[in-house]
Amino acid sequence: MDHPALLERIAAEVAPLVGTGTPAGYIPALAGVDPRSFGMAVATLDGTVHGVGDWRVPFSTQSITKVFTLALVLAHGGDSVWERVGREPSGNPFNSLVQLEYENGIPRNPFINAGALVVTDRLQTWTGDASSELLEFLRRESGNPDLAFDPDVAGSESDHGDRNAALAHFMASYGNISNPVPTLLDHYFWQCSITASCADLALAARFLARHGLLADGSRLLTRSEAKQVNAVMLTCGTYDAAGEFAYRVGLPGKSGVGGGIVAVVPGHGTLCVWSPGLDERGNSVAGVAALDRFTTLTGLSVF
Ligand code: GLU
Repeated sequence: MDHPALLERIAAEVAPLVGTGTPAGYIPALAGVDPRSFGMAVATLDGTVHGVGDWRVPFSTQSITKVFTLALVLAHGGDSVWERVGREPSGNPFNSLVQLEYENGIPRNPFINAGALVVTDRLQTWTGDASSELLEFLRRESGNPDLAFDPDVAGSESDHGDRNAALAHFMASYGNISNPVPTLLDHYFWQCSITASCADLALAARFLARHGLLADGSRLLTRSEAKQVNAVMLTCGTYDAAGEFAYRVGLPGKSGVGGGIVAVVPGHGTLCVWSPGLDERGNSVAGVAALDRFTTLTGLSVF
């Protein structure tokens, strides 16, 4: 497949959408990003990566990191994490508190904020330094030693982190958080602040297309665990619009409020697209459209 020509075509087709939508404003450090940015990268199983537009420009990964922390937790502790977090779509906004009380402090899935806090709590217990473990993993798998936390974004999230603090304290009251809440929140905010480009993220996510195998051929996840992570991405990875995303794109995907989306074509490769303008559910407008065009033009989807 001629990926460079395909990517150029997709970029041209979605160009009218770039700059539409609204960059996330509730984290002030994200609000300053150029809304006209657009990048897309495709990585194949062997690590070849092609891109278009701003595909090498680092952006705030935000909730995309939730996929990687889940994978690291499954690798450390196997299935035990599923006693503390569910795997059903929430049908509620990603930072909602209301469902947690009805469901006794067990979040619906690992990709809403409450679920991600539980997963980061597990990683912190097992490693003693969850955010550094994640950063090192991303550096290794992307082959980019320059990936870093963004202290401005982490600080901004912490300064405006009342909702996440409420979620964490609430779950702690049900015994579903093991570490001190301030420590957990620090690691969660650092995790969300990691900046990486479309190329970096497409490369780092390849283990999900390689049925659990890392770049060096060693195994992070069993084949079955890789299937499970992809399945949860498909059903829960794009906020309360996962049904619409599955309908349009037909791939496991995880979005973040920085405007990035990572998608996986199991057995073929990975995609990452970035454009900061978000729709009302929090997904990148041009990003979803670009992935929609990719699967429509190539026929590469899980369906
Ligand atoms: N750091 C963001 C938050 O906790 C992540 C949200 C997202 O990307 O979905 O609100």
